[in-house]
Amino acid sequence: MIELNNVSKWYNDYQVLKDCTLTVERGEIVVICGPSGSGKSTLIKTVNALEPFQEGSIRVHGMEVGAPDTDLPALRARVGMVFQSFELFPHMTILQNVMIGQRVVLSRSSSDAEAQARRLLDRVGMADHAHKYPAQLSGGQQQRVAIARALAMDPMAILFDEPTSALDPEMVSEVLDVMTSLAKEGMTMMVVTHEMGFARRVATRMVFIDRGEIIENCPTEEFFGGT
Ligand code: ADP
Ligand code: ADP
Repeated sequence: MIELNNVSKWYNDYQVLKDCTLTVERGEIVVICGPSGSGKSTLIKTVNALEPFQEGSIRVHGMEVGAPDTDLPALRARVGMVFQSFELFPHMTILQNVMIGQRVVLSRSSSDAEAQARRLLDRVGMADHAHKYPAQLSGGQQQRVAIARALAMDPMAILFDEPTSALDPEMVSEVLDVMTSLAKEGMTMMVVTHEMGFARRVATRMVFIDRGEIIENCPTEEFFGGT
């Protein structure tokens, strides 16, 4: 469903991804780990074309990523993304933040978009905050809204780029709990995280990257030594 074949990428003459090959099947939770600066963030951003790559190929559910005619809005609706910093629109309410993509990209009616937004805000425990603005929420709450916003597009997969690393420690678990419930429902996920407890509990597969190279790609039990 997500397939990277021999993907290489350079920033000028610096090679940030080296011949990366990785398949993520439907329902898999792939955790990507590795040292800081090893290319984890860059790797997942190539999947929804937030970063271009120069060699190899990426296919998402049959869509060729990086082709001249790639339909970017369609791709990004299929593959949602949750970033380290929450990136909600500050001048819009929480409800409007979760509605906007559905309105603009999917051309949903206002009432359909609102119903979907309210359902998903409820799902992430944020229904009571629909009328507030992002600045009125904690980081953990904003991140849950960002997850609801990604879900609102009915994506086939969601990419997470260090979703908890900007949070105060007491807010980490409220976000990991939402991610864990998504995983249990069968959402396909690629997650860059340092939360190894979460990885161990939730990941189906672990990928370790060092200096742009996939060094390890194995089932979670094997990665953690079967203990
Ligand atoms: P990670 O997510 O593993 O910390 P990144 O994918 O963010 O790593 O970055 C990998 C490497 O690429 C780092 O050395 C980083 O400095 C470099 N890099 C990231 N973005 C750019 C950019 N826009 N231009 C040049 N170098 C970049
Ligand atoms: P992340 O790892 O979450 O992407 P970073 O702090 O590594 O966050 O990067 C933030 C932004 O700066 C990104 O847009 C990235 O592409 C860019 N960036 C990172 N490293 C470099 C670099 N060495 N040169 C230029 N841009 C960079």
